[in-house]
Amino acid sequence: MATLEDPLRLVIGDKAAKRLDSALELRTVGDLLRHYPRRYETRGELTDLASLHDGEYVTVQAKIAKVTSRPMRNRRGSIFEATVTDGHGLLALTFFSRGRQDWRERQLAPGLHGLFSGQVSTFRGKRQLAHPDYELLGAGDGAVRAAEYAAQIIPVYPAAKEITSWQIADSVRIILDVLDIEDPMPRALRESHGLCGLADALRGIHRPIDWGDRERATARLKWDEAFLLQAVLAQRRLAATAYSATPRPRVSGGLLDAYDARLPFQLTVGQDLAGSQIGDELALDHPMHRLLQGEVGSGKTVIAVRAMLQVVDGGGQAVLLAPTEVLAQQHYRSITEQLGPLAQAGQLGGAEHATRVALLTGSLGAAARRRALLEAASGTAGIVIGTHALLEEKVQFADLGLVVIDEQHRFGVEQRDALREKAGEGRPHVLVMTATPIPRTVAMTVFGDLEMSTLTELPAGRSPIATHVVPAAEKPHYLERVWERLREETAQGRQSYVVCPRIGGDTGDADGTLSAGQGGGPDDGRGDDETGRPAIAVLDLAAELEQGPLAGLRLAVLHGRLPPDEKDRAMLAFADGSVDVLVTTTVVEVGVDVPNATAMVIMDADRFGVSQLHQLRGRVGRGRHEGLCLLVTETEADSKSRQRLDAVAATLDGFKLSRLDLEQRREGDVLGAAQAGRRSSLRLLTLLADEELIGRARHDATELVAADPALAGQPALAAEISVLLDRERAEFLEKA
Ligand code: ADP
Ligand code: MG
Repeated sequence: MATLEDPLRLVIGDKAAKRLDSALELRTVGDLLRHYPRRYETRGELTDLASLHDGEYVTVQAKIAKVTSRPMRNRRGSIFEATVTDGHGLLALTFFSRGRQDWRERQLAPGLHGLFSGQVSTFRGKRQLAHPDYELLGAGDGAVRAAEYAAQIIPVYPAAKEITSWQIADSVRIILDVLDIEDPMPRALRESHGLCGLADALRGIHRPIDWGDRERATARLKWDEAFLLQAVLAQRRLAATAYSATPRPRVSGGLLDAYDARLPFQLTVGQDLAGSQIGDELALDHPMHRLLQGEVGSGKTVIAVRAMLQVVDGGGQAVLLAPTEVLAQQHYRSITEQLGPLAQAGQLGGAEHATRVALLTGSLGAAARRRALLEAASGTAGIVIGTHALLEEKVQFADLGLVVIDEQHRFGVEQRDALREKAGEGRPHVLVMTATPIPRTVAMTVFGDLEMSTLTELPAGRSPIATHVVPAAEKPHYLERVWERLREETAQGRQSYVVCPRIGGDTGDADGTLSAGQGGGPDDGRGDDETGRPAIAVLDLAAELEQGPLAGLRLAVLHGRLPPDEKDRAMLAFADGSVDVLVTTTVVEVGVDVPNATAMVIMDADRFGVSQLHQLRGRVGRGRHEGLCLLVTETEADSKSRQRLDAVAATLDGFKLSRLDLEQRREGDVLGAAQAGRRSSLRLLTLLADEELIGRARHDATELVAADPALAGQPALAAEISVLLDRERAEFLEKA
């Protein structure tokens, strides 16, 4: 009898266990049983050979068409070649041997069906598997695998170099025969969702008798994935409510009221609503954990400032964390400006109750840094603004009441936990803001421990952004027209951005400043593309434009390698209109706000992700004038990259685009650190397709956890969850 936690070697022996460990890192019975087949072959139905790719380890079902054997030319030995077919294409199986291979010739007789496993390569224009492993089906001398042949449906496992699919299947079969597990899912839940038992599900996915079998198995196993994750999140939410926080109810006649009175515009309905949700939660005696999402330009900063002022009015401090130094500085400037006398405590002209705003970034001089640290520690500064790195340093606060994290679109649960812990002994309220719209299911998983506010409308008076794809390879003169357009903008007193994927100058390539939270997803788009040419670089292009198409305009460059004060100077010059064209990397990706900037040209646009492009173009069209975004690309008209660009050009709906982004990424990229691991707990569940299931699981998990927070009445379920958490913790530590 075997349970899921048993080490494999106890059940299948040392040799097989070692192989599974070294090839696939599968160590326990549970590990192996969660190594699901990648696909299934139906007996007698041959694998489509045209679908094979060079370099892949594959297992194919095919029929032997012919065999040849010849001596090697320069050495002793022979080459035996069997050609197999799926009825259309051919695949060569080649075997080299020092001696004769008569036995193989007898074994691999034309007409037989078999499973062949090996790495695909191409030799002299022919697809081949060199030295494949094989199992013949149905006939042949002694090599017939009765069990495989008896089954209608043959599982094909993700295999590896040292191990074949049927070796894995053999081990699985042994285990299934002796498996003895307690079903962790409460009976009532199983019944209400019509789910089969866990043991049946594991049998059904590994050795289905028919397709219905496999369907039932998948339904159950998907449910488990969704439910376990949601149970963890529900426990986290519940645990969070057990922490206490200092309530900061709204008081009248304080800074918040004074700020509202100073606001030059009316809050949108959405801002009002989100603002009062946040205001109410700050008044509670347990910490707020809220995510505020809203399109680029929807006005999240105002909401953050209002929340911070409510906390300052309540005697506490607030910290605002931005992903980059440029953004931190911009926040500092615009918030001190908006607050005016309200932020001038201790200064001539400061308002009554006034507070101070401190800026803490890595580039501060020693004296300024000391002053800022002191203001934070003494409580003189009600608001401290810095980069995300801030909380990793030893910054002390007199009374930290609120942490606002700006523009954090990929921030795993673990990082948020770490952040909260670093924030001091007391638990501050936490507000996370993101402009990358998060599809509902991702919100329910990655951000599942947060409450959610969404801003759906933009403030009135915003101008639309027109986006066009500029095919620079097919139509070179289009590029000239692009630069002409920028000259026209300048002539009308407006400003433009030119964004490049690379800094240039020396070996340094991408500007990593902003990508920290972004990971390097497949469409991060910074390396070389199909053309093999390095991406267009800020320094090269700026020099070129200055000499040529944009001669006479006032150009400035901005990128992550500039010293911080130069970065700041470039940004300031652009903000006050003394620069016409800012040639830049993605440091302008999030948050930068210059309403007079109306045009953006994105070079090698295909090298950026969909959401990233959407973020970038959000920098224009922020004022009275219509925005223009030109996506310059050399990709082929019907390529996948071009289709992504067309999609970006076709819609301004961030939610649509983030779905598209999600479809093109691996789930792991979306889920962040722990979930992205090799041992990710999500194998069958797909965030986009299983929305309804995730919703049901969330509902039921929340209910169950509310009734029995420690799951004392469900020991098997509690055990599963702790296995899951251990695995995630291990992954997280490995990455850290
Ligand atoms: P984001 O949500 O992208 O962070 P910001 O907070 O930077 O957006 O706001 C973008 C611009 O809109 C800022 O200049 C801000 O002052 C302005 N703004 C915010 N709310 C309103 C409003 N209700 N009406 C008009 N302008 C607004
Ligand atoms: Mg912002």
